[in-house]
Amino acid sequence: MASSEESGTEFRAEVRAWLSAAPRPDGLRDYGGTPEAADVPAGRQWHRMLAAAGYACLHWPVERGGRDASVLEQAIFAEETTRAGVPRQLNIVGPDLAGPVIMRFGTEAQQQRFLPGIRSGDHLWCQLFSEPEAGSDLASLRTKARQDDDGWTIEGQKVWTSAAAVADYGLLIARTGEERYQGLTAFVVDMSLPGITVRPLRQLDGESKFNEVFFDAVRLPRDAVLGAVGQGWPVATATLGQERLSLGAQAVGMFEALRSVADAARQRDLLDPLLRDSIIRLWTRIWLLRATWLRALSGDTELSSPAFSVLKLVSSEIYRDLGDLATAALGVDALVADEQLVRRMLVGRAQTILGGTSEIQRNILAERVLGLPR
Ligand SMILES: Cc1cc2nc3c(=O)[nH]c(=O)nc-3n(C[C@H](O)[C@H](O)[C@H](O)COP(=O)(O)OP(=O)(O)OC[C@H]3O[C@@H](n4cnc5c(N)ncnc54)[C@H](O)[C@@H]3O)c2cc1C
Repeated sequence: MASSEESGTEFRAEVRAWLSAAPRPDGLRDYGGTPEAADVPAGRQWHRMLAAAGYACLHWPVERGGRDASVLEQAIFAEETTRAGVPRQLNIVGPDLAGPVIMRFGTEAQQQRFLPGIRSGDHLWCQLFSEPEAGSDLASLRTKARQDDDGWTIEGQKVWTSAAAVADYGLLIARTGEERYQGLTAFVVDMSLPGITVRPLRQLDGESKFNEVFFDAVRLPRDAVLGAVGQGWPVATATLGQERLSLGAQAVGMFEALRSVADAARQRDLLDPLLRDSIIRLWTRIWLLRATWLRALSGDTELSSPAFSVLKLVSSEIYRDLGDLATAALGVDALVADEQLVRRMLVGRAQTILGGTSEIQRNILAERVLGLPR
């Protein structure tokens, strides 16, 4: 234990020193897990710098260009990048979702073809799962993939696809048969192919991070299938499992966000006993989440375990409550206190929806972990 703490201290010092010395590309801001189109040039340049310094895809195995980083090191890296006000990677989907899933289900040729571009930041990925009639109930999706001698033809529509407008590749789940689960197949899609139309959606916070994506007779080669035909459901659940872990990891940065709320309240002389109590309650919840995250991932639990839903559930609800606390404490001043605070307030609710809503996480925990009736 002592040695892992010591290595954690050394790693933190190393990361902090690098972050304080590294020049920031023009226009770089901490945009969270998904860049806006205007963020991509600086985000990509930053990711390349991280890759050159050995900080991209920390959790990947060494032979794939990662660092086999321990859970503690990943948490420290997330904390230090949040503290420094920079993104920890170009976007979530490539390094945290597509990369690990390609390593698990992809052929050696697919791994050699796609992993280097994710690690270097040259290729930005998106996740083509949700549809207008298939969100929580993902297995009811209707986008069709029809096979012929040369490959596949894709027809259908996806929605809420983060970063699709700037993505080079997408991880697609499409219907290849009638069976609810076995009729699904995963594909790797080159987003520049003819027949793909991406329409950005404007959000409440003024940004346009997610999109509608239309597939009109899009031709994919035979080797675009990831895993076997009919294995789309295991690929989808593995991806969502990775997403829950990744969101849990993000949560460790929330100490910094809470500190900025407390600082803004202190500067305005608003720290009355009630507000102090709310801040301490939230601080305790973040602390417990961090401890649970480290313990859960350091143990023997399978990474695909439904138990990890607890990390997604708790982290997203803390994120939401942090935004609510800032609004309650600072009132309209929250809008001018700092740009990150405003973003957190506005995206707080989205966190409880993306990657599976809080209701769905509660269902998973109730039915699959506690064995309660449906
Ligand atoms: C910021 C953001 C980014 C996203 N990025 C992506 C992306 O990159 N790629 C992608 O594929 N998708 C993405 N999504 C979509 C996300 O996965 C879906 O929004 C989510 O799965 C919910 O689906 P839905 O919006 O269709 O809501 P619905 O499934 O229609 O749910 C509506 C409401 O009903 C509740 N509900 C549904 N079923 C049940 C049930 N069985 N029991 C109890 N309550 C239930 C839900 O909790 C919710 O409150 C993103 C979403 C957000 C907010």
